[in-house]
Amino acid sequence: MRYLILCLILLGFTQCKIDNKEVTGKPKIVCTTSMSADLVKQITGDKAEVSYLMGAGVDPHEYNPKLSDSEKLLEADIIVYHGLNFEGKMSDDLKKARKNKKIVIDLSEKIDHHSLIHLTEDHTHADGVTHAHEGEVDPHMWHDVKLWIQATNHLATALGKYNKENKDIFLENASNYSKELLELDDHLTKKYAEIPDSQRVLVTAHDAFGYLCKRYKIKSKSLQGISTAAEFGIKDVTDLAEYLINNNIKSIFIESSVPNKNLQAVIDHCADKGHSVKIGGTLYSDALGDKASGADTYDSMMRSNANTIVNGLKK
Ligand SMILES: [Zn+2]
Repeated sequence: MRYLILCLILLGFTQCKIDNKEVTGKPKIVCTTSMSADLVKQITGDKAEVSYLMGAGVDPHEYNPKLSDSEKLLEADIIVYHGLNFEGKMSDDLKKARKNKKIVIDLSEKIDHHSLIHLTEDHTHADGVTHAHEGEVDPHMWHDVKLWIQATNHLATALGKYNKENKDIFLENASNYSKELLELDDHLTKKYAEIPDSQRVLVTAHDAFGYLCKRYKIKSKSLQGISTAAEFGIKDVTDLAEYLINNNIKSIFIESSVPNKNLQAVIDHCADKGHSVKIGGTLYSDALGDKASGADTYDSMMRSNANTIVNGLKK
């Protein structure tokens, strides 16, 4: 009993220490994804050293953390991650970081629950592995700018709590960046409105664009999203091909972080039936692009996707 009480006291003390921990000077912030690092930089400006673990073309659902990643997390003052089980295989490392009394911020923690998309079928990737199951939340929330604004405000408040000397700067930067994001949302709304009603269907390999399609009133279809099984088969390919033929859809889109070979089977099946389908372009679904891509910030990635989708579907 005495041992139990001692444990509870120690636990309470540790918790209290974590909550009150403050970072002074330039905090070292390590983020999991390129999107989260971009957001942290927008808020901290030159007041933090920001780095991230997963670069261009990396699929976070699949990502197995390297030993060097674990070391980087342990060297950080603050860790920022996406949440909603997006970085599925990093959960042990994040737990370990918390145990080591690191400050760990979940970007999605304060997103309005009703705005999140709850999956009605499994979320499966091109390798046939199912990454999220019916009833789970779709993690790709950054594709809705309004939700990214919620993440911006949460992040600024959380960072200000641990780095009090720069709190006001973080809040001011977040306020200014939110205004830019509102302008971006306005631009995207106008841009997506250019797609003719008959072509407002976004077809991709994996179902990463549910939030984008909901926000900008486009229908989304994906090869893996159709299947509720871990493996997708010829029926999924023919079902999607039939859908494209019946709805006269002429463009489908590949993704920078997902292999595209499976979509080729859909294109071939359509061709056999006399319906010509082309690749409308490459979209950035789960990571920003590299420096040369013109999609290496959140803002430019969202604009690049919009240009690709609109140009691909308008033709
Ligand atoms: Zn994804």
